[in-house]
Amino acid sequence: MDFITGHIGWIEVVCGPMFSGKSEELIRRLRRALIARKRVQVFKPVIDVRYSADEIVSHADTRMKSEVIAKPQEILQRLDWRTQVVGIDEANFMGPELVDISQQLADSGKQVIIAGLDTDYMGRPFIPIPDLLCIAESITKTLAICLRCGNPAKHTQRLVESTDLIAVGGMGMYEARCRRCFEPGLPKQELLEFARPKRD
Ligand code: ADP
Ligand code: ZN
Repeated sequence: MDFITGHIGWIEVVCGPMFSGKSEELIRRLRRALIARKRVQVFKPVIDVRYSADEIVSHADTRMKSEVIAKPQEILQRLDWRTQVVGIDEANFMGPELVDISQQLADSGKQVIIAGLDTDYMGRPFIPIPDLLCIAESITKTLAICLRCGNPAKHTQRLVESTDLIAVGGMGMYEARCRRCFEPGLPKQELLEFARPKRD
């Protein structure tokens, strides 16, 4: 039984709503790969330079150096072929080409670790995460805490007026909500914490 002659590639996906710890988990896995002396490259889409232009950053402020790309094809262009582990954050902003590119990376022996939102502000599956889940060897779904009721939250609630699929922002613009408290699209403004009149 000597058919496994080298390491094989695979795809891991970490998905869930905003604030659920996807970036933290991605960074944790990438740090472990570095401890194992593996060569690591990290990519994020140019659209998300909210907290840093050259790092992936979690809401709890853990950070890791990353390369910014405009489209997933750039991963192949920028890839050092000695790289063993490829990390990708905010995959939901990368578009459907990411599926084929992740497949190519894994087929060529890379460990691909992908983090992204699985649903959008309407609660709909967020392309290309559904297809990535189908081709992945490993799937992790992270949950946040619902800011309304404290239960586990799988939704990203948009708090500001916009019907764009992509409206980049963090706290104040989005919050985590559970199935019961989620209101697809915009919540009733009077229910919002910051829109309520302050009581002494
Ligand atoms: P994601 O990448 O899924 O948006 P991050 O990894 O950036 O999540 O941030 C996770 C961290 O955000 C948590 O460890 C916690 O410190 C913080 N946090 C803020 N709001 C919430 C919330 N509603 N539920 C859980 N964690 C939250
Ligand atoms: Zn709730």
